[in-house]
Amino acid sequence: MAVTRTFSIIKPDATRRNLTGAVTAMLEEAGLRVVASKRIHMTREQAEGFYAVHKERPFFGELVAFMISGPVVVQVLEGEDAVKRNRDVMGATNPGDAAEGTIRKSFAESIEANSVHGSDSDENAGIEIGFFFKPEEIVG
Ligand code: ATP
Ligand code: MG
Repeated sequence: MAVTRTFSIIKPDATRRNLTGAVTAMLEEAGLRVVASKRIHMTREQAEGFYAVHKERPFFGELVAFMISGPVVVQVLEGEDAVKRNRDVMGATNPGDAAEGTIRKSFAESIEANSVHGSDSDENAGIEIGFFFKPEEIVG
């Protein structure tokens, strides 16, 4: 299976509870390697741009407000079949539906404050990585 990259965000509910290391450890244990990482506080414009695909959804305003409510850690992850590997360890969007051993089952507070984001396709991974990282910031 091919080694690919995906994009991850450790969301404000997780940084607020000092879970950056705990979340990253679960990503690493799942076979993903952090090849770029930075802690940022997103602007409203960045959050609206990043989540533009959801702008017609009823929760868009709350989602943007949540994502700018505190710092996040944006990361590029590398591994075999990275998009799926990351989504598997993240667990279902709603923590009530997430499987045991997943990040969202372990840490998420709600469907909104669900601790992590992960790209949902190789194509979107490329777009999302480019949204936050310059090529020279990614060191594999
Ligand atoms: P993400 O894109 O953050 O990795 P996801 O792909 O599992 O999560 P999406 O359907 O892309 O889920 O939704 C994006 C984010 O919007 C979710 O992670 C969650 O924070 C929020 N969200 C999704 N559905 C709802 C909802 N019904 N109410 C409130 N927030 C929601
Ligand atoms: Mg999504």
